[in-house]
Amino acid sequence: MKNLFLTLFTCLVGLGAFAQDQIPTQNGSITIQPIVHGTLVVSYQDLTIYVDPYGGAKGFAGQKPADLVLITDIHGDHHNQETLDGLDLSHATLIAPQAVAEKLPKEKYKAVVVLGNGSSTDYSAAKITAIPMYNLPETADSRHPKGRGNGYLVELDGKKLYISGDTEDIPEMRALKGIDVAFVCMNLPYTMDVEQAASAVAEFKPAMIYPYHYRGTEGLADTEKFKQLVNAAAPQVDVRLRNWYPAN
Ligand code: ZN
Repeated sequence: MKNLFLTLFTCLVGLGAFAQDQIPTQNGSITIQPIVHGTLVVSYQDLTIYVDPYGGAKGFAGQKPADLVLITDIHGDHHNQETLDGLDLSHATLIAPQAVAEKLPKEKYKAVVVLGNGSSTDYSAAKITAIPMYNLPETADSRHPKGRGNGYLVELDGKKLYISGDTEDIPEMRALKGIDVAFVCMNLPYTMDVEQAASAVAEFKPAMIYPYHYRGTEGLADTEKFKQLVNAAAPQVDVRLRNWYPAN
């Protein structure tokens, strides 16, 4: 019997069932649920936000239906129409850059709001601002040219969450102020290496940082090394390593 419970426990941990984090706010708490790669669910009171739904609808089993969906860019690990189609999004508002909005079947959703870099919109208790995300050096033919995709700043009950999208250590990231929770990508050759990511994070000093979107062509980035580098330069930053690549 003990082995059965142990096996069950191991399975649940493997499925990420215990991977939720609660971030206390003035009036409650924000729940952070990593799903896979660059995909997560953020919830606060009765508001549920999906970020870049990807990896199939089964990854969202047990989650409340989304009120709001944030999409960062056109690539299949960010705008994944198959995953969107597997979810009940008939009551959801989608926020996306123009390049993504052009490809969305708008009739399937309550609304599609186009946000360009630097613009903001309010939805329920959340304020959403689009932050640039792009590769360096800036060239028109780069994987992520400036202006096409959006990182997002999500403000909820006095907390500021920053979701980087696919980007390098751009000045706009380094200049962020007062971030409570950050999600920063690090995977080659698509975005940046752990040294660049750590250098940027040590500069803008979020209270908490989740390395996410860290699977590249050479496998998973060394997030332990990222943590060491950040904390060597900025010991006060809470680096949260979570399993963004569940085996199922
Ligand atoms: Zn990506």
